[in-house]
Amino acid sequence: MALAGLAYKGALYIDGDWVSPSGESTEDVVNPATEEVIASLPVGELAECDAALAAARRAFEEGPWPRMSGAERSATLLRMLDVLLARRDELIDLVMTETGAPQGLAAGLHVDTTLAHFRFFAEAAAWPNVEPLPYDLTERVGGGRLLGSQVQVYEPYGVVVAISPFNFPLLINVAKIAPAMAMGNTVVLKPSPFTPLEAFVLAEAAEQAGVPAGVLNVVTGGTDVGQALTSDPRVDLITFTGSDTVGVAVAQQGADTLKKVVLELGGKSALIVREDADLEAAAQFAVGQYTLQAGQGCSLCTRHLVHNAVRSQFLDLMARNSQALQIGDPAVGGTTMGPLIREQQRQRVERYVDEARDDGGEVVTGGRRPDDLDRGFFYEPTILTGVDNTSKVAQEEIFGPVAVVVGFDSDEEAVTIANDSPFGLSGAVFSKDSGTAFEIALQLRTGQVSLNGGSGGMNSWAPFGGYKRSGIGREYGVAGVREFCQTKAIHFNAG
Ligand code: NAD
Repeated sequence: MALAGLAYKGALYIDGDWVSPSGESTEDVVNPATEEVIASLPVGELAECDAALAAARRAFEEGPWPRMSGAERSATLLRMLDVLLARRDELIDLVMTETGAPQGLAAGLHVDTTLAHFRFFAEAAAWPNVEPLPYDLTERVGGGRLLGSQVQVYEPYGVVVAISPFNFPLLINVAKIAPAMAMGNTVVLKPSPFTPLEAFVLAEAAEQAGVPAGVLNVVTGGTDVGQALTSDPRVDLITFTGSDTVGVAVAQQGADTLKKVVLELGGKSALIVREDADLEAAAQFAVGQYTLQAGQGCSLCTRHLVHNAVRSQFLDLMARNSQALQIGDPAVGGTTMGPLIREQQRQRVERYVDEARDDGGEVVTGGRRPDDLDRGFFYEPTILTGVDNTSKVAQEEIFGPVAVVVGFDSDEEAVTIANDSPFGLSGAVFSKDSGTAFEIALQLRTGQVSLNGGSGGMNSWAPFGGYKRSGIGREYGVAGVREFCQTKAIHFNAG
């Protein structure tokens, strides 16, 4: 299998150069479907954090990137996109090998959707950075009126630290670095130690596209590197995606120096299936949700709230659809669900399911490792019922292929249960009555809701983000792009 050539360079990307780390430590990147080591990467240390932050600060204070026109930045980013498009097939292989995503998911959401988002962000660089505001009239003391006019100007925020989780490495890295760079910021990117390789493909693309030195820096490493990057006074903004626990730590680490934080955190999103829903379509959606990327997705619906009149029929359909999934190595044709990222994550999933069983929960299907796969971190798609929404499995993010099905008797009850969660990332409603489905969507305390399966794709114009413990701020859309800007008002005296 062709892997990104950079993996073997053994270097980090700092100030436009490939730099060997000062320390000796390396981190094995493991294929979660085979448990084979696919690369051994050098791990960044504090010296590399320091060098990367110095380079990013210098590039921001003195370099051309924040000062060039939006159109010039846009052209550079579009050249970067061309490099990535030329490496599309290699990126798909890389994502499959590193994250365990099946071929269709790797090609679709991981790579093609991400490259479409990249184009959106590259084009956003050329958006006007000055917008007129409504005029105003001020009564003068002693008579007459003053005509005032204002504009708001979007300026780059400064040095951005971007920290990513393991599950969608290309997508999430791009969701951070591309809008940050488009708006004229400079960036230090720290990918997840489990899935670091895509970040280096991005660095190679930046180098080939002529992105000036210091604008994009990539440093590997774990908690110590993350802590150093998020507490350093040279940093203005942190964009973090990961668990809510680490998100809280990141906000605290950045608080002493009052950094802006944009946090994209976990979820436990609810799918509401009304009595009048197309049950076959809803069950297919439900299974697609809880098993996509083996359930390791922040915005997936993993709590399935089903009207009691159709609950048993729905459970049968869900079980049938779940059992039809082809679990295995993504490299094997026909695979529709891959492994969890590491053994530790599989054990965590097992603990949740065992606890639910001990608490009287019923396992409708799954609840075990597949018999025929003795290598790789696989776990069967698992449906739990017989537990209520207050149970641990219904309240906490499991991050594995586990769905919890809870019954309800009225729309009001469904909304109450859906909102009874520490998280608020997404949600979904299935109903033949689209007006009522829309009204339910308005009542859900979440950043996004899909009705009857949604629009099918991930629109770059749609803002994405969470309420409550699912985060602060937005990615994508105009709101997400403008997170990376300071907004300045300039007032004119027009006479
Ligand atoms: P994680 O929180 O364990 O780690 C995320 C990143 O933070 C990693 O790069 C890690 O090295 C780094 N890190 C760890 N401790 C740190 C510290 N103290 N300071 C700075 N950085 C630190 O998350 P994960 O296990 O990689 O990913 C899964 C989590 O990510 C889930 O909770 C999932 O819901 C969430 N997620 C959210 C979104 C979203 O957009 N809302 C998208 C994908 C994943």
